[in-house]
Amino acid sequence: MTFDQLKELLRTPRYIVITTHQKPDGDALGSSLALYHFLCKLNHTPIVISPTDYPNFLQWLPGNDTVVNFEQQPDSAKEWAGNAELIFCLDFNKLYRINSLGDLLGKATAPKILIDHHLEPDSFADFELWDVEKSSTCELVYDFIEMLGMTDLIDENIATCLYAGLLTDTDRFRIPRTTPRVHQITASLLEKGVDHTRVYNEIYETFSENRLRFFGFCMTKCMTVLPEYHTAILSIEGEDIRRYHISTGDTEGLVNYPMMINDVWMTAIIIQRPDQVKLSFRSKGDIDVNWLCKEYFQGGGHKNASGGKSEVSVAETKEKLLSILAAQKFNLNLI
Ligand code: 5GP
Ligand code: MN
Repeated sequence: MTFDQLKELLRTPRYIVITTHQKPDGDALGSSLALYHFLCKLNHTPIVISPTDYPNFLQWLPGNDTVVNFEQQPDSAKEWAGNAELIFCLDFNKLYRINSLGDLLGKATAPKILIDHHLEPDSFADFELWDVEKSSTCELVYDFIEMLGMTDLIDENIATCLYAGLLTDTDRFRIPRTTPRVHQITASLLEKGVDHTRVYNEIYETFSENRLRFFGFCMTKCMTVLPEYHTAILSIEGEDIRRYHISTGDTEGLVNYPMMINDVWMTAIIIQRPDQVKLSFRSKGDIDVNWLCKEYFQGGGHKNASGGKSEVSVAETKEKLLSILAAQKFNLNLI
């Protein structure tokens, strides 16, 4: 499908499903709800279907009440998928990233539109707006609205959702992909009335006391620093998560803390989730954690921020990672 054909499709009101990756983050949910508000303005009937729940610190986003959680409302999601005339896939590019919702949407006959900035997309979409150079899917949704020539339609709600994704995926306008263009888009969003101090407060200053104490516990008890590999590992067991009553999203941002140590270039979290051991990596410069996750942990993401999973325990996964570091220290540019 060409962009002009998609534009033509959008001229008539349609039922439209918007979906994003499991455990959506600020960019995933921000881009989805921004597109939701935008499509409403064009007289479509859109819905955002999230594969799972998502953190409290995103639940203030405008339109949050309209989101269908596939795990809680599978029937409603199935009905929407069956009726959909278009399906937007935002901030992911492999159907397994939306869990069993992937089977449902994979079988749906409606054309699929991918808007994403992750590496190595599977080819399942009929139209792709895909660019790994972009800071965020929110930046791409802004580009999409601009390509349609409709930035005039961006209102405070759309702007707030886009701003939330730009803020979080650039880690507060910090990562290298925070380009002049990002700041130009941000400026135009602020002109639409975004209350940026409130957005910051909602996302970053709404910790429970337990959550902050848990972060302290992780730095004190769960962190191994390996100066020889410029790496820090946080290994977090299920019992610690239960003791601190940690829930969805409470570990968001944790991976960035060890990066504050001088000469730490890569951080890994190995954490026991209810159903599996998950890994989360951050790195600097030429250290390619997308490759690392793809090669060893059935995952991927971006060069400097990726995730994956492991079939063995937290402790065994840590051992596995240690041996990978020893074997791949040159390939990973760790020394
Ligand atoms: P996080 O560490 O914040 O959970 O994820 C970092 C990046 O890696 C995000 O862009 C996320 O979408 C991606 N990611 C996390 N886990 C996985 C995974 O299991 N598979 C793939 N392909 N990407 C992942
Ligand atoms: Mn993103």
